[in-house]
Amino acid sequence: MKTKIGIMGGTFDPIHLGHLILAEETRVHFNLDKVVFIPSGRPPHKNWDDITEPYDRYEMTLLATNDNPYFFVSTMEIEREGLTYTVDTIKRLKKENKDAEYYFITGADSLVDIYKWKNHEELLKLCKFVTVKRIGIPNSELENLIDKINKEHRDTAYLLTIPYIDISSTGIRNRVKRGKSIKYYVPEEVERYIKKKKLYIE
Ligand code: ATP
Ligand code: MG
Repeated sequence: MKTKIGIMGGTFDPIHLGHLILAEETRVHFNLDKVVFIPSGRPPHKNWDDITEPYDRYEMTLLATNDNPYFFVSTMEIEREGLTYTVDTIKRLKKENKDAEYYFITGADSLVDIYKWKNHEELLKLCKFVTVKRIGIPNSELENLIDKINKEHRDTAYLLTIPYIDISSTGIRNRVKRGKSIKYYVPEEVERYIKKKKLYIE
């Protein structure tokens, strides 16, 4: 049987329970052999100046995933120069492991932009997409999008139903800035790291 690998891309600024629950639920549902978290280098759609150092985001991702034997973290995007695109990442992974089947895990807010992603036609052929609902994206829009993708690329996109968790990294950064508690929003180790490195206070 083919190895099934989940790919969880994100800025992870910081990683939070929403990411971890999404990854774990996907792993269990699709019986994945592992999930690889890939903190982004320089994402094309975000203002680079506002993003925390890649090393800190990587470190927090490691701390958050350390206790899950199925979770791994890759430095491949943060080590790459220039802009990072999902299609390049997946192509590289497939080259390294030709027999594996890849599941790209993403919230609805990312998936709705799929037709703007670099080489999305090629990307949709390279891996499956697993998505979950997120605030701001109407259910009908998401369901239509998934139908459209599946008509164009057979059995490529799945809508997974998981407990809805209204946590975002933006929300966490704002809470830290305003001196509010982020306990239980992020794993304890991540909370400690944020305090130690004084992240998000400016
Ligand atoms: P930001 O607010 O900085 O955009 P974020 O919380 O959306 O941060 P990202 O690193 O941008 O986190 O997200 C990585 C992936 O995880 C995206 O596909 C996003 O949709 C998904 N995701 C993030 N938070 C949740 C959540 N609470 N529930 C489900 N999916 C989530
Ligand atoms: Mg986001």
